[in-house]
Amino acid sequence: MIRLYNTLSRKKELFKPLTKGTVGLYTCGPTVYNYAHLGNLRTYVFEDLLKRVLVYNGLKVKHVMNITDVGHLTGDMDMGEDKLEVGAKREGKSAWDIAKFYEAAFKHDLAALNIIEPTTWCKATAHIKEQINLIKQLAAKGFTYETSDGVYFNTSKIKTYNQLSHLPLAELKEGARVEKNKEKKNPTDFALWKFSPAGAKRQMEWASPWGKGFPGWHIECSAMSLKYLKNNLDIHCGGIDHINVHHTNEIAQSEAATGQKFFNYWLHGAFLNIAGGKKMAKSADNFLRLATLVQSGVNPLAFRFACLQTHYRKPMEYSPKIIANAQKGLEHLYNQIKEQTTNNKQQGKINIKYKEKFLKAINDDLNLPQALAVVQAVFKSTLSGADKRATILDFDQVLGLQLRQGAPVAAIPAAIMKLAQDRQAAREAKNWPLADKLRQQLANKGYLVADSPGGWQLSKK
Ligand code: AMP
Ligand code: ZN
Repeated sequence: MIRLYNTLSRKKELFKPLTKGTVGLYTCGPTVYNYAHLGNLRTYVFEDLLKRVLVYNGLKVKHVMNITDVGHLTGDMDMGEDKLEVGAKREGKSAWDIAKFYEAAFKHDLAALNIIEPTTWCKATAHIKEQINLIKQLAAKGFTYETSDGVYFNTSKIKTYNQLSHLPLAELKEGARVEKNKEKKNPTDFALWKFSPAGAKRQMEWASPWGKGFPGWHIECSAMSLKYLKNNLDIHCGGIDHINVHHTNEIAQSEAATGQKFFNYWLHGAFLNIAGGKKMAKSADNFLRLATLVQSGVNPLAFRFACLQTHYRKPMEYSPKIIANAQKGLEHLYNQIKEQTTNNKQQGKINIKYKEKFLKAINDDLNLPQALAVVQAVFKSTLSGADKRATILDFDQVLGLQLRQGAPVAAIPAAIMKLAQDRQAAREAKNWPLADKLRQQLANKGYLVADSPGGWQLSKK
């Protein structure tokens, strides 16, 4: 019995998939115009925990994640520039190259956090036909209208437009009024298709029945989830910032097109904030990447461990101290497991009593802080070392902390870190001979440095 907090009902509900034994899970993916920051990654860790909990309960999970590589504008109300084009201008590359680079960096971060990849990755630019077809369906049913800059969804035709946000319609409209588009019939209406600006050629544009242009941001998630999870529209996730606009619009257009309920369960992760409660955001100067933590000697799984220590619906605070404590906590856990191994060579058994306690915690809307308390209770128990180890390694299928391997968390000495940072500076200055010399010095001291789209990383030889 799994209970999950559903944003639709604002209640914890018993989870029941549409098809017995199989769950469809759609998680809104990144807009690949920049690196993911720790806030974004907190949301992906929460979604990974959800998926692991479902699998641990014996369910098969069809997990779909999109990559937004076109159409997400800088203003949420369909105004402003395409974020991919912003990234392209910033770096002097094509929008396609920007998307490719940051998609690779994102996947690198997921792997470092031991996040299991989705069953299906799907890109907005690879599903233009599906998005156009969905807009055609909406047009045929009279839900759309055209303005000088695009095709819009008429939200006044949907009586349940606020079913997810629970906001009074007047308040939703007030929010939408911040950025005015005088041609919209209702402030909450949103773009399904935007026209390429007259006389200008966009890097990413396609022909459509309404004119050359590109899809609005929300339509991609509807088109791709309906395509890949047709009969398994069970759970849809994202961060809480998606509730009032992105997910509200996804529901409106999907239910209008199909005449059927879209997803049954909507789960949202709370923010990662910096001290003082300010949201970590790509547009603000408080943007911290996983690679930055790693380069200061932090094991990426220490960040994962910190996420596990805070319930996903509670705001989480980021500070170097919290990460340092998580690193210590993880190291302690690795040592605890190692002790059981050295004392006991024989195969242990998973203890059912503790497994039940663990299940009770994770099945209560992913109560991972409680599940971690169960882990410590196992260590303190009178079970044999072998049984403790077997039980906790079983739990690690959900925790994802690589307890079996016990990845080394020993901090990298400051002198080594300095060499690696100097090498990076030399690379950025394109001083290749110096960069090579520093790489050799690191090798002489027993460290290998690897470069990837996610940044450089040190490992012991
Ligand atoms: P984006 O790449 O901006 O589309 O965001 C990717 C995911 O990160 C979405 O699910 C957002 O809701 C989520 N997100 C953005 N900022 C934060 C934050 N500070 N804390 C947690 N999640 C966030
Ligand atoms: Zn989405």
